[in-house]
This record gives sequence, C-alpha cells and structure tokens, in this order.
Amino acid sequence: MSEHPITHADAVVVGAGPGGSAAARFLADAGRDVVVLEKASFPRDKVCGDALTPRAVRALEQLGLHEEAAGEPDGWVAQSGLRMYGGRTVLDLPWPEVGGWPTHSVTATRSLFDHTLAEHAVKGGAQLWERTEATAPVWLSDRQERVAGVTYRTRDREDGATEEGTVRAPLVILADGNSSRMAVALGLHRDASRPMGVAVRAYYESPRAEMDRMEGFLEMRTPPEEGARYEDGDLLPAYGWIFPLDDGVVNVGWGLLDSSPHFRSINYRKVLEAWVDQFPAEWGITPETRTGGVRSAGLPMAHNRHPMLHRGALLVGDSAGMVNPFNGEGISYAIEAAAFAAEVGDEAIARGSDAPLSRYPELVQGEWGGYYTLGRTFTWLMGHPTVMRVCRDYGMPRRRLMDFVFRTMAHLVSPRSRDATDLILNSLSRAVPAA
Ligand SMILES: Cc1cc2nc3c(=O)[nH]c(=O)nc-3n(C[C@H](O)[C@H](O)[C@H](O)COP(=O)(O)OP(=O)(O)OC[C@H]3O[C@@H](n4cnc5c(N)ncnc54)[C@H](O)[C@@H]3O)c2cc1C
Repeated sequence: MSEHPITHADAVVVGAGPGGSAAARFLADAGRDVVVLEKASFPRDKVCGDALTPRAVRALEQLGLHEEAAGEPDGWVAQSGLRMYGGRTVLDLPWPEVGGWPTHSVTATRSLFDHTLAEHAVKGGAQLWERTEATAPVWLSDRQERVAGVTYRTRDREDGATEEGTVRAPLVILADGNSSRMAVALGLHRDASRPMGVAVRAYYESPRAEMDRMEGFLEMRTPPEEGARYEDGDLLPAYGWIFPLDDGVVNVGWGLLDSSPHFRSINYRKVLEAWVDQFPAEWGITPETRTGGVRSAGLPMAHNRHPMLHRGALLVGDSAGMVNPFNGEGISYAIEAAAFAAEVGDEAIARGSDAPLSRYPELVQGEWGGYYTLGRTFTWLMGHPTVMRVCRDYGMPRRRLMDFVFRTMAHLVSPRSRDATDLILNSLSRAVPAA
C-alpha cells in the first residue's frame, strides 16, 4: 500500500523551505487541499545567516506565527537594531520606528525555523510528505504547455527503499530553492546577467550571543600573505555578519557578489578564518569555539530566474531568485511571494481558470520590482573596490546618509508614506522598469 495514497489535490507545492511551507499554510487557510513535497525530513539544517529583519518579522506575523515573530519561544531571540562596522567607524542603528514596521529583528536557526513553518502548514491542514522528492513535471497534454502535477520518489524512513508516484493538481507551486531542478525541467534557467552571491557561515560559542544587536561589517578582505596584516588584503565587495542566537551561539558569516573578480577564485573558508582571526579576544570567536563546519551556498538575487509564472507553475522564493540584492535577505520575500501565489492560486482554483495566475508577477513586481532593479545597479557598483572604499570612508561617518542607506538596504519602505526616505526610494523605484 502506498505511503501517499492520494493522487489529486487542489495544489501541489514542491519544497518545504519558508516559501513552500508559507504557500501551503496560506492555501490551507483558504480551505484548499494542499500537498507539500519535501525531499529532506525535519528538522534539517540549511546554510543561512538565520536572521529575520523587521520586514521578515512582519511576514511571520502575516503567517500567524506571532510568538515566534516576537522572539518568545525557546530558540528564538529578538534584537533591537544593527551595529555596523566600516573602516574606523562603528554605527549603532536601532531599527527605525517608521511606516508601522516592527521595531525588532529575530533570529532562530534554520533547523528550528523551517521545522516550525512546516509544522505550521500541517497544523493549518496541509499534507507534508517528507523524504519525497519531486522528480519531473506532469503535463496537462502532450503539447507540454501547462504543468498539471509532478511525479515523485519517496524514501522509506527505515530501510531507505523508494517508491514512486504521481500527484496531480490544478495549481503547482515551485518553492524548491536556488537549484530548482523542477524549474529547469520546465525549461527555465538562471539569467546570468542578474546578480548572484555566495555566502558562507559557521557557528561559534561566544559571549556575543548576549548582545541585543545584529552586527554587520563592510570590511571583508582577501586573506593576507604570511606575516602580513589583515588590512593588507584587498577589500572585497562583500559584507560580513555576526548574528546572536539562543543558547550562547552566534552565526558568523560573509557574502560575496558575483560582480567581484574574486567571485569564483577565492577560498571562502580562508577569508572567514582570516577575518575571525583579527576579532578582539573577548568576543571569544576562535577556531576552538567553532561548533560544526564552515558551509556555503548560493544567493540568487534580483529575480535571476524568470518569468516567475511559467507553463502554469508559480515560482516562489529562491527558485525565482527572489533574494534582495541590497542585503542578501531571502526569507521575507519567499513568504511574501507565497502569500501572493496563494491569493491568485486560490482564485484560479475557484474560477476554474488560469487567468488569475497572471496577476502573480504583477503583484510581486508591484511590491519590489523597481527596488530590485535599483539593487542590480547597486550590486554592479559594489563590485568596484573604489566604490566600496568611498562608501566605507565617506559614507559611514555621515549619520543621516547612513540612516537612509540602512532603511534602503533593510527595505523598510512604505509606498504611501510622505517620509523623505520613502519619497526618494518610491520615486526612484517607480522611475526604473520592474524586472
Ligand atoms: C549563507 C547564507 C546566508 C543567508 N542568510 C540569510 C538571512 O540571514 N536571512 C534571510 O532572510 N535570508 C538569508 N539567506 C537566503 C535564504 O536562505 C533563502 O533566500 C531562503 O532559504 C529561500 O527560501 P525558499 O523556501 O525559497 O528555499 P529553500 O529554503 O532553499 O527551501 C527549498 C526546499 O525545497 C526542498 N527541495 C528542493 N528540491 C526539491 C525537490 N525536487 N523535491 C522536494 N523538495 C525539494 C529543499 O530540500 C528545501 O527544503 C541566506 C542564504 C545563504 C546561502
């Protein structure tokens, strides 16, 4: 007897990361019969900074995870701002009180975070099929124009034996992450002209876990030659972070943009080690306090796989390259896009028509399309060491400018506000094509 006897649902979601679990919960809340296929089983690790900005906190609230959004349960902690380091300047930037945005951020390991979201989808009524990998699209007709479900392979928990099956649905959502094999199977590849990043992270036991701030660093360098000082390394178009977690642990990492000539050639782990090596001793962040390995993964930015509606499938989160090119944040956008996908998907199912699906790209582009276009220029500029140096030396010491930069990078902007930062950013975002 099959572990997954059903062969039809209202919606099939591939991947139970933040995008997939959120889409499943939103659709289940709308009364839809949803199946989520996840090739791993929870809890499972995911390489990430584990940081949720106020924007992501709002997305969690939208999802109904209010206690987690407040940083209340074990394993979740809240911070009241960001401390930013660049050159000789250290800036303390409380999360701004503007536009009704939450005034705190939250951190939780992805192992806990993703498990919580997947359970939340199940509590809402979605079926979660773990250890189940979507293997190929199922087409509505031989013309292969419209996807109508997926084939899958489930691995048995005990003996690892596999079983294959098919599940069909009028709504198919692909939330299978950066590599998105399913999008590739639909003929959709990455757009190499859009920015891409790579980031690495490691966990350390450190007294810095007690701090009430996230920390960001604009001074990442190539590892120095033997005997040379850290400052002698080349400045990279990169940013570093220390994010405090529960239980005395910090997440330390850094990310590099593909606009850098070092993108493919540098040893990411050595950069991390050289950077950590010059931290003050009292931070306690050393090779001895590291727990676990140094791991890296890609950051697909600025809609680097498009269109996000393709052959009837809606692409959500990293599968559509929805990471914010200004700051490397992807979780909030995955959840926000999931809400849009669920809204149009529910309407399409109700009407028995694909017409509502075409609103999905419009909704996403309307929310952040112009901002991401600006972000593409930003990543291109940051790829030039001189621009990076000027920002660090002349931008960092100017507080008002940095407040503007801070809000821009954290994307804490309100479309209808008359605040100066909102007015400038909204005008700029509208002046460029959303893409
Ligand atoms: C080092 C690093 C640090 C980062 N730090 C942050 C941060 O601090 N804050 C932030 O907001 N973002 C951060 N990001 C980005 C963030 O991790 C992603 O944007 C986010 O995980 C996207 O969510 P998703 O649901 O789209 O995809 P994913 O989280 O990648 O989830 C995809 C899921 O699909 C499953 N899957 C894949 N293929 C299949 C298949 N064929 N069948 C079934 N299941 C499948 C996978 O197992 C996975 O569970 C970081 C990224 C990196 C690499």
